Amino acid sequence: MLSEFDLIHTFFTKAQTPDARVALGIGDDCALLQTTPGKQLAISTDMLVSGRHFFPDVDPRSLGHKALAVNLSDLAAMGARPLGFSLALALPEANPTWLAEFSSGLFDLANQYQCTLIGGDTTKGPLNICITVYGEIEPGKALRRDAAQVGDDLWISGTLGDARLALAGYWKEHALSEAQHQQAAQRMHRPSPRVELGCALAGIAHAALDISDGLIGDLGHILKRSHVGARIMVDELPAGPVLAQQSLALRREFCLAGGDDYELCFTAAAHDREKILEIAQSCNTPVTRIGAIEAETGLRLYDNENQMLSLQLASFDHFKST
Ligand code: ADP
Ligand code: MG
Repeated sequence: MLSEFDLIHTFFTKAQTPDARVALGIGDDCALLQTTPGKQLAISTDMLVSGRHFFPDVDPRSLGHKALAVNLSDLAAMGARPLGFSLALALPEANPTWLAEFSSGLFDLANQYQCTLIGGDTTKGPLNICITVYGEIEPGKALRRDAAQVGDDLWISGTLGDARLALAGYWKEHALSEAQHQQAAQRMHRPSPRVELGCALAGIAHAALDISDGLIGDLGHILKRSHVGARIMVDELPAGPVLAQQSLALRREFCLAGGDDYELCFTAAAHDREKILEIAQSCNTPVTRIGAIEAETGLRLYDNENQMLSLQLASFDHFKST
């Protein structure tokens, strides 16, 4: 039987490339971070609970990836560059096969972004994964939710809705072929944090956030904090490749209120339109202009013919849903 310390040593004290910014890593009472002088530390925590955020029998490698990906996505949404992370883990049992898969999914992504595991906590209990990420950003450059300006373009990275479509497949809400479901499920289980794009937009875009609970609900946070409104051209929304094959009504619903997309939604001055497209190209991350920020509060949805749409859609809320 693995002891707590064997477990930490075997699966989480992996050889990651030493990083000068980590003065002291796993093994002491605290880790010590050497942040770049003059930069601000960006900190964010996201918890994944079994049965709530993922199916209990989900592939552990994907779970390791996703647990870190959703946290890196928060750094990206702020424009901060990843530095390190800590991992608080509750496990029902110390299953070495499960742990090996989980940690390799986790470290594959961590190494991709030079993000070092600096500590954590391990306990027995219902499966629960809580990660805190630390990143750095130059003062004044963070992409804050309260920074949208009237006249800004509204942009979205990548594509929307395939993760929600995969969930509809699991729930049998919607019939998909096996191949379609597998493709959509990749988006649900292995989201890509838009780290390069977020860092490149810092100091250039105005407001940003990452879409975890659905575009309209999440965009609502920017609008509220910035005291502005917005218009969205609904049929310009970039549907994921599987969702793009579905009906117009489903495309609209899952693009607007899907959730689990982990794309960036951001605003930027209209005169920076070309610059935004160049940045996106240099980061290899497509972006689409989907609307504009307006002085009138609230969100207005338009179709291709510029007709206003009234769609009854709710974004995801853990305490409202059952
Ligand atoms: P303490 O009792 O002081 O909280 P622990 O015995 O819990 O310390 O942890 C010992 C060391 O292992 C600490 O440096 C801690 O940060 C690290 N650690 C514990 N669990 C994990 C984990 N899941 N991943 C990475 N580091 C961990
Ligand atoms: Mg501890």
